[in-house]
Amino acid sequence: NLSDRLGNVFDKLRGRGALSEQDVREAMREVRIALLEADVSLPVVRRFVDAVTDKAIGQDVLKSVTPGQQVVKIVNDELVAMLGGADGEPEGLNLAAKPPVVVMMVGLQGSGKTTTTAKLARMLRMKQGKKPLMASLDVNRPAAQEQLAVLGQQAEVATLPIIAGQQPVDIARRAMESARLQNADVLLLDTAGRLHVDEALMAEMKAIAGVSTPTEVLLVVDSLTGQDAVNVAQSFTGEVPLTGVVLTRMDGDARGGAALSMRHVTGKPIKFAGTGEKLDAIEAFDPKRVAGRILGMGDVVSLVERAAETVKAEDAERLAKKMAKGQFDLDDLRMQLKQMQQMGGLGMLAGMLPGMKKAKAAMAQSGMDDKVLVHMDAIIGSMTAKERRNPALLNAKRKKRVAAGSGTQVQDVNKLLKMHQEMSRAMKQIKKMGGLKGLGALFG
Ligand code: GDP
Ligand code: MG
Repeated sequence: NLSDRLGNVFDKLRGRGALSEQDVREAMREVRIALLEADVSLPVVRRFVDAVTDKAIGQDVLKSVTPGQQVVKIVNDELVAMLGGADGEPEGLNLAAKPPVVVMMVGLQGSGKTTTTAKLARMLRMKQGKKPLMASLDVNRPAAQEQLAVLGQQAEVATLPIIAGQQPVDIARRAMESARLQNADVLLLDTAGRLHVDEALMAEMKAIAGVSTPTEVLLVVDSLTGQDAVNVAQSFTGEVPLTGVVLTRMDGDARGGAALSMRHVTGKPIKFAGTGEKLDAIEAFDPKRVAGRILGMGDVVSLVERAAETVKAEDAERLAKKMAKGQFDLDDLRMQLKQMQQMGGLGMLAGMLPGMKKAKAAMAQSGMDDKVLVHMDAIIGSMTAKERRNPALLNAKRKKRVAAGSGTQVQDVNKLLKMHQEMSRAMKQIKKMGGLKGLGALFG
């Protein structure tokens, strides 16, 4: 899938020191193939790869300490831009209108409109304290209106009583009236789909929108249908005034391409993602998180951002050189500890990197937490420069002096020395594995 493909490309980049323009171009060729295989439409792929290549070669990426990571970050930023609005934050329902605010669902048959209607209504009731009313305008499919009534009972949300033989536009009018009488905040209109987009469907949607003046018109598309979903989006766009997209079946083995293309094709934000058949299986579509998932790297990008703010390039370079020689003294450890503090302490690091969870558990076991970072800094500060460069000098007498000087116990000094030894050993191993720079020292 897309994550794996891109993951492989970026692992290759990340594992390298300096990158050439040629390296970037080759990586982008692979990104292009990965996107095409994930069913992202060709114009979108082109635009994406061009933008990323320009940025990666234009900025000082090639000269930076961690060029591979910088390229990954540029790709990530571009993904976020392509998946979401300018700020990359999730966009919820727009409820800023005179109640009852009308939310209309449109899409093909089987795309998940009815299920999504009930999911949204439940979410509005439970999470936002709203009073929603749901109405099914689907007179095409047998028992479609009953389906919504059943879901309404499960979600504990009122549904418009069914009157047999009424046409969609009349049901819409009745639903508006009923919502007003009940003082409902939000009216959700579930509409009929077709197997294919046709004129009759579009005419029906326009007529319903005409009488209900919806604040939101959400296009519901099945993310598993890939390129088809893109075609459906294209057909609806321009015919009805879409305000957003809901991608259903994101729980399935989606190749991820639909999400990328959808925003480009409709020009509208993807607002929600359906992640299962149950009524609580819906999430606000979060461009940042989805980009991270596509890149298959958790929150590495925000970590790199933070590190770039705090870790000075020269420091990292100096450390990398020392590591390469197999030297890592207590001055270096002190610098690392300071960086850990600046980056938000152990807890934050653990939250961002899967690998750090284990490291944190190990540190906690050895009695290390954020307070300990401060103690350790004091301990190293109480040593002489000679001792810091050569910890072997620290005999029992000197340890006692250092403990007294830093307001700690000899056993704390021992713990720190042991940790330094372990880190040195880990670094030698990293060096053997090809050498991560700077950051690697923290996470090895
Ligand atoms: P409609 O014809 O557009 O109204 O589609 P329905 O809401 O009736 O959904 C069709 C089928 O898709 C039902 O069996 C739903 O349970 C299922 N479904 C809807 N959304 C999701 C989703 O996000 N994930 C999964 N796995 N199934 C879904
Ligand atoms: Mg339906």
